[in-house]
Amino acid sequence: VHSALGDPATDEQPPLVARGSAITEAPLSYSQEALWFLDRLVGPNGTYNIALSARLAGAIRAETLERALQALVERHDTLRTAFDDRDGEPLQRVVQDATITLPLESLEAIGSEAREDELARRMREQALVAFDLSRAPLIRAHLYRLAPDDHALLIVVHHIVSDGWSSALIAQELGALYRAFEHGEQPVLPELPLRFGDFAAWQRSIGEAPLQRSLARWLGRLAGLESLELPTDLPRPPQPSGYGDTVDFTVPPEQERALRTLARKHNATLYMVLLAAFQTLLMRYSGQTDFAVVVPTGGRLGAGSETSTGHFVNALVMRADLSGDPAFTDLVGRVREHTLDDYAHEVPFDVLVRHLNPERQLDRNPVYQVAFVLQNLPDYDLSIGEAPAWLESVDNGTARFDLALEMIESGEGIRGHLTYSTDLFERATIERMAQHLCNLIGAIVENPQARLSTLPMMGRDELDRLLVQFNDTARPYPLHKTLHQLFEEQVARTPQAIAVVFEHQRLDYASLNAQANRLAHHLRSLGVRPGVLVGLCVERSLSMIVGLLATLKAGGTYVPLDPAFPAQRLAFMLEDSQASVLLTQTSLAGLLPVDAVRVVNLDRLPADVPPDAQDLPPMAQPDDLAYVLYTSGSTGKPKGVEIPHRALTNFLWSMRAEPGCDEHDIVLALTTLSFDIAGLELFLPLITGARVELVSRETATDGQLLRERIEQARPTLVQATPATWRMLIDAGWAGDQALTALIGGEPLPPELVQPLLERTKALWNLYGPTETTIWSSAKRVTSATGQITVGRPIANTTFHIVDEALQPVPIGVAGELLIGGDGLARGYRNRPELTVEKFIGHPFSDEPGARLYRTGDLARYRSDGEVVHLGRMDHQVKIRGFRIELGEIEAALTRSPDVAQAVVMARHDLAGGASLVAYLVPAAGRSVSATQLRQTLRDTLPDYMVPQHFVVLASLPL
Ligand code: AMP
Repeated sequence: VHSALGDPATDEQPPLVARGSAITEAPLSYSQEALWFLDRLVGPNGTYNIALSARLAGAIRAETLERALQALVERHDTLRTAFDDRDGEPLQRVVQDATITLPLESLEAIGSEAREDELARRMREQALVAFDLSRAPLIRAHLYRLAPDDHALLIVVHHIVSDGWSSALIAQELGALYRAFEHGEQPVLPELPLRFGDFAAWQRSIGEAPLQRSLARWLGRLAGLESLELPTDLPRPPQPSGYGDTVDFTVPPEQERALRTLARKHNATLYMVLLAAFQTLLMRYSGQTDFAVVVPTGGRLGAGSETSTGHFVNALVMRADLSGDPAFTDLVGRVREHTLDDYAHEVPFDVLVRHLNPERQLDRNPVYQVAFVLQNLPDYDLSIGEAPAWLESVDNGTARFDLALEMIESGEGIRGHLTYSTDLFERATIERMAQHLCNLIGAIVENPQARLSTLPMMGRDELDRLLVQFNDTARPYPLHKTLHQLFEEQVARTPQAIAVVFEHQRLDYASLNAQANRLAHHLRSLGVRPGVLVGLCVERSLSMIVGLLATLKAGGTYVPLDPAFPAQRLAFMLEDSQASVLLTQTSLAGLLPVDAVRVVNLDRLPADVPPDAQDLPPMAQPDDLAYVLYTSGSTGKPKGVEIPHRALTNFLWSMRAEPGCDEHDIVLALTTLSFDIAGLELFLPLITGARVELVSRETATDGQLLRERIEQARPTLVQATPATWRMLIDAGWAGDQALTALIGGEPLPPELVQPLLERTKALWNLYGPTETTIWSSAKRVTSATGQITVGRPIANTTFHIVDEALQPVPIGVAGELLIGGDGLARGYRNRPELTVEKFIGHPFSDEPGARLYRTGDLARYRSDGEVVHLGRMDHQVKIRGFRIELGEIEAALTRSPDVAQAVVMARHDLAGGASLVAYLVPAAGRSVSATQLRQTLRDTLPDYMVPQHFVVLASLPL
């Protein structure tokens, strides 16, 4: 327990006076009362036991030790105190004749190898046995004999009558009593001017009135404080179990010396420097710069309380301020200022909590989750036996906090103990955390002027694991071949195999190739070659596939223009992409402005272009663009993502191996071309000899029709978003044990896993943004109970999870997922600034020009290298798998003269779907009509981006 640093007097409190009275009944102090209620609430348990042990060498007189213990109990009335319930009000009562015994257990019969373990087990077990608070004494002791001249003493006291300081007093006095009795002398011990009952009565009698000024200061100081969200390994149970474990570590003496020097230089104490280091660790784990750490204080307010045992300890809620990424030395300055001020305004913790009136939560402590203690009391030598007998605390497998760091000045470096709740953390995680704290301290000692974000926390091995081992994805692939070349090779292997089926039409590989060649020749004659963009505005049909392949064969880049989109949006995409050719159909004539483009009607190709079995000489290189795909843009306009051939080839080659596809497969293609994942459904089968079963838009969006189509076509591979899978299951689809289901586009809903596992041969969760080409990771899901992950990166793809300073975060810690490798897009069409912002220079690669894409996805590594997706860091949402920047809808809304301000949100419904809600503030003197607005939005936004609900507000709540 750290002694108070400042003058503890607060406001105009009357001083604590020792009355020297032998009071036998007293109220409980505030914090005793909190412990008492907790005991009532959860029932007797060992969480608030303080357990201490000492190893005693040489011959021990057990009777003398028992007598010393008894004398100790008689001397300190707290050790003879019981707690009564008087009509719901607790009361403490000093019992005159409490007896303590010292049972002796022999472990001599146990083999010498097993003896120590058995001792540890027994002490741990005993340390956990609950006290009945209504029976004194709330202290017990056990003696274990390992050999005639080797004993272990265990003392267990309930925290409600004791604290850290008391432990030291107990050690000191027990030794003195034993030695005196052994020599037949009268023990000489200090006076006990203050009874704990006096303290409790004083605390209660003065009430809260004198604390008002301090309380007001605390309420101001803690206003707006949010709880610290450390990344946990396990979901927080509804009620904490109280179980815990401890990881020990040591800060070596030379670092301790350096920390002391650092403290002196900045007019601070070792305590402040260690607290600052711990705060830095917590910031790096949580990403928060504002949180609280609770620190116990001695709580002894003079009047001779220094010699009394009892639960005097108090706790301060110390708010950390790590904003602005200060230098460590600056943080020490802030901690010093705050600490001095906080100590000077100490109020009983439980009074403060009552005034803070936090929202009651059963699953966690409402005010604090993490504690820090610097134990600077000397280790006590009981001086019983023939060698020093240090009294040390016994870990009884409990935890009072989510996480508590105790540091002990031992004279040989600083001993550290990180005690954690086993409800939340796994041991390996806390072991890493302890190592990170040591690494941070090492870095601080080396360069205390460094900014917090730059202090290295991970060692070489750990960095190597994250950066290299988890990204060991290099695999050979036909880098110099484009998708259409791979298709042409497949045509040569299986010319007669069915390539595509659509309604009642089908094409074998040779015919599909010949048709594509025919169109490609025509496109070349129109000037299509690498660098030339071709808009593709066609209904789902065989022509769509011919158009795609032909554009690529000609060397061009296709731009999907979904005819279901509003004409204005399509026109924007056509213009923004600078496409010079437009492939379309008779039925879609007039949809798009055609002044600036050459139009090719796929229904009426010029008669002089014959189908051609001969492939065109290839022109496109790996870096040339295969397609440009438009996706929602946060500033109001869609943005075109430019995907080179290399990325597409790498992606398809990786998917060919896993989840896998070959000539036996039948692949259902149901996704619109404007969603990049359509590329998997169309191209993966065509380079592996499988068959594409193309589904019309009408079928793809109707559960019943889709179910019938699947039952009739019997596909072996189906890719869909969660919404489509749910629709299919709701339509009564019974499944197919030959079918591999691919799901992705948004987080895999846990409740879909079991139904899909039951209905399929295999289930894969696929993750990836358009900017890194279709999917970037894949994970076979085999159990409905395990944690859902997006798995590991696909071939030639790397993942990096980083903090705001773009530094890698450790396993388990949340950060932004950055993706590198061969799947990266070239950038955004005509948007150099946005490209530089999202595709950054690769900070961990020596390869010239290497880049990483900032996904905006929040993620964390598991220790097995799999990645858990945690959500978005921005305002991007998914509706039925479609990617939507809410900012684009808001911009479209505020373009209306009726709307002054707009905020759009995605609301999730119970059925697992999501809908968009727009909150609007009308422009002055205007009124808004939802019908009209909806109509206006439909001119520029696809259906799925038009909000379902409009809420009109007088002003936007901040
Ligand atoms: P898009 O560019 O349309 O493919 O959307 C990419 C975004 O969708 C990702 O950045 C994620 O936020 C989300 N996403 C896609 N697949 C998954 C998945 N399997 N699990 C979680 N989120 C996903």
